[in-house]
Amino acid sequence: MNNILLKLSKIRVTSSTRRSLSLSATQNKNYSCKLLVVGGGSGGCTVAAKFTKRLKKDSVIVLEPSSTHYYQPLFTLVGAGVKPVSATCRSEKSVLPSAATWIQDAAESIDAEKCSVKTVKGDVINYEYIVIAVGLKNDYCKVPGLSEALKDENSGVSTIFDPVYCEKTWRDMQRFQGGNAVFTYPNSPIKCPGAPQKIAYLADSYFTKANVRSKANIVYNTCLPVIFGVKKYADALLKVVERKNIKVNYQTVLKEVRPAEKEAVFYNTADTNKEFTMSYSLLHATPPMCTPEFLRNSPNMTDAAGYLTVDKYTLQHTKYPNMYGLGDCTNTPNSKTAAAVAKQGYVLEQNLLNTMKKDEPKEHYNGYGACPLVTSYNTCIIAEFLYDGVPRETLPINQARESRLAYYMKRDLFPFLYWNFMLKGNYNGPEFVRKIINPFGK
Ligand SMILES: Cc1cc2nc3c(=O)[nH]c(=O)nc-3n(C[C@H](O)[C@H](O)[C@H](O)COP(=O)(O)OP(=O)(O)OC[C@H]3O[C@@H](n4cnc5c(N)ncnc54)[C@H](O)[C@@H]3O)c2cc1C
Repeated sequence: MNNILLKLSKIRVTSSTRRSLSLSATQNKNYSCKLLVVGGGSGGCTVAAKFTKRLKKDSVIVLEPSSTHYYQPLFTLVGAGVKPVSATCRSEKSVLPSAATWIQDAAESIDAEKCSVKTVKGDVINYEYIVIAVGLKNDYCKVPGLSEALKDENSGVSTIFDPVYCEKTWRDMQRFQGGNAVFTYPNSPIKCPGAPQKIAYLADSYFTKANVRSKANIVYNTCLPVIFGVKKYADALLKVVERKNIKVNYQTVLKEVRPAEKEAVFYNTADTNKEFTMSYSLLHATPPMCTPEFLRNSPNMTDAAGYLTVDKYTLQHTKYPNMYGLGDCTNTPNSKTAAAVAKQGYVLEQNLLNTMKKDEPKEHYNGYGACPLVTSYNTCIIAEFLYDGVPRETLPINQARESRLAYYMKRDLFPFLYWNFMLKGNYNGPEFVRKIINPFGK
């Protein structure tokens, strides 16, 4: 009897599965547009806003799965208890231009030869031009034990690189009573390369305020051979770590987290990958990051590491002239920041408009990026630089010096500019400020 029931249930599952497959096959939709923007984060929203103003109605489709848009640069201050995570987000609908069609789905594959994108739900979007701005995702699996530790409220392990866990960083800081507070930087490109050390500086300031600093051993383990990639700011930051008595271990990579033992395993790339174990009371992990899977599965569009291959000056794809890319998912050798996206958005707009007119892209992205390196609850260094680490400062002061002004710019001015100007396509970086301050300068 049991066997008969089992067989019947199997038949039912099979037939209903077939029915739903054929139903969904007929329900799949086909869209066409002049411009498809894949990703509705910082870069995607900015570009969609610019082009809905430039093109006729119904020309722009944005493909974005998430119903929430985050202003990620504030995650650092959430981790330090300055803001709640709710201050970092708005609904995706409210930030996308109303003249764009939003398809709430994710790209599963791109056929760049046929100019079409297949979505995870099975729809097909045909395009004339495409902009790819799908950012980076956290690759937790690369560090065994990390996911498990993050999910455990009492593990003392957190990350500001995820909206789900950045408030946990603040809870961990408040619970800290002494011991090793370990901060890490992984061996992959990451967004905002300054953030892993900013949170260490804020932890130092908070522990001092909470009278536990003398019981804390703050350690910053970074895969990099330097504290920061631009010498002018690296020199200033070395003074900060010295003053704050933070131990920096270079070329040191987190390999595994053992939450049950409160231990982390590291290896040293300068010493034949020699492994060592550290116990921790608090561990702030910056996870390895990678591009979304569909890009990594498109070798015709990406480099060996899965980054979209675009010309580093024009942002046009190296193989497909009707394809452009901006933001964290491209292979341009700049610092992956929202500040870079603001400048790239302008360059991409000018160049894609030229491509649409069958002209050559002429505008050049100079690698501009910025990183407000918060060093305490009221000081910050605003690093601004171009390709090859050439400093390019906006303010008529030495920006490598810690200042209160820079802190309030980071906390209040930049979020304001982001929500009210950049996402609406009206902010292309601080070039205009430079022109006002120094109208005859280069
Ligand atoms: C902790 C932290 C601190 C930071 N601090 C700063 C700072 O101080 N200053 C600064 O300038 N920058 C900072 N940044 C970096 C900044 O947030 C990013 O560089 C910027 O958001 C990159 O924009 P993007 O459009 O490339 O990617 P994102 O804004 O991440 O957007 C990518 C979008 O693509 C979507 N997507 C993913 N996969 C698919 C798919 N298959 N199909 C369709 N859509 C997809 C995602 O849902 C997402 O909405 C920080 C980031 C973090 C995490």
